[in-house]
Amino acid sequence: MKKNIMNTYGRFDVVFEKGKGTKVYDVNGKEYLDFVAGVAVNCLGHSHPAIAKTLAAQGEKLMHISNLYWNTEQIALAEKLVSHSDHHQVFFCNSGTEAVETALKLARKCGKLKGGSSKNQIIYMNNSFHGRTMGALAVTGQEKYQKDFMPLMTGLKSVPFNDIEKLKAAIDEDTCAVILEPIQGEGGIVAAQRSYLQEVKALCSQYDALLVFDEVQCGIGRLGSLFAYQSFGVIPDVICMAKGLGGGFPIGAVLATEEAASAFVPGDHGCTFGGNPLACAVSLTVLDELINNGIIDGVNEKSLYMIGKLAVLQEKFDVVQGVQGLGLLLGLKVKGEPKAIINKCFEKGLMLVGAGESVIRVVPPLNVSAEEIDEAVKILEEAILEVYKD
Ligand SMILES: *Cc1c(COP(=O)(O)O)cnc(C)c1O
Repeated sequence: MKKNIMNTYGRFDVVFEKGKGTKVYDVNGKEYLDFVAGVAVNCLGHSHPAIAKTLAAQGEKLMHISNLYWNTEQIALAEKLVSHSDHHQVFFCNSGTEAVETALKLARKCGKLKGGSSKNQIIYMNNSFHGRTMGALAVTGQEKYQKDFMPLMTGLKSVPFNDIEKLKAAIDEDTCAVILEPIQGEGGIVAAQRSYLQEVKALCSQYDALLVFDEVQCGIGRLGSLFAYQSFGVIPDVICMAKGLGGGFPIGAVLATEEAASAFVPGDHGCTFGGNPLACAVSLTVLDELINNGIIDGVNEKSLYMIGKLAVLQEKFDVVQGVQGLGLLLGLKVKGEPKAIINKCFEKGLMLVGAGESVIRVVPPLNVSAEEIDEAVKILEEAILEVYKD
């Protein structure tokens, strides 16, 4: 029964049963076009045959073996992530928030080794989102998520996003890390300026602090490059990943430069399920599809196509104020609350999710087709017309 589930989500009144590609079906057989993709998780859509095949094959081989031992899939996935990045070592976990916790602990340990126990301050951004566990929540700069769960972790400072002067004023010798999302997702699809990231990187180098990119939402191909940082041309010391990394199977990871990663020694951190062969096998398949089947290479073209279509809505309707974001992590800025439009789209079989106060997030699977984009924008247009007909 639904009432057996804790009341932590405002959900749509629908129960889903199955999906294929960008389409999902509820228990009554109604079809929906999924432009939420499990909130940027289902990068290859639903029930991708390669993922299903790997799940079955690896399930028959080996699903879990503790990190007391090595396993082939974990080693192969780490090697793959390293080979496509400028980084050297990986820690595996199961979710975005765990990846952020890992990065925070790594930052503290690095700080301690470099500058003693006073080098422990972590700077985060206003309007950020890094997850729901206590550490990640503490660096999530949004009052609504934090206010009922005080006291949170200490040793933190927050600054406005994309404001280099404020960061300059906040950073000092005691700073051990700066954490940010290259594109703020939950905060409203707000991209960092490239020049800002360059300056943040320079400040972090100057003060010997780690630069941590939370790519949980914007990474894994969503911006048209495997890692988000590659689309900005600024290399962080530490990258947090999850969401798209498993294409729907839970997995998270932290990727770091050798210099940063070497701060961890046995006993410093751990994760029972992290790096299990089943999750790693699925992730290897996902990365193989994304990289070798041209999915990531197709993202920018799809992005331009979609931005063009959304720009037409902006011309037609006063309520649509702009298109923001990059790649297939896009946001339609609207006047006022987006909820009425999102609900109307849902009625009409198009799934969308809000971001921030006034943005409709558009995060389809990365293998979405042009026809599906056409259909989604058509539904969106009808919904706007109906909601604002008076
Ligand atoms: C979703 C998200 C998280 C949290 O991931 P979970 O898997 O829900 O713990 C952290 N950071 C960003 C940027 C996210 O979008």
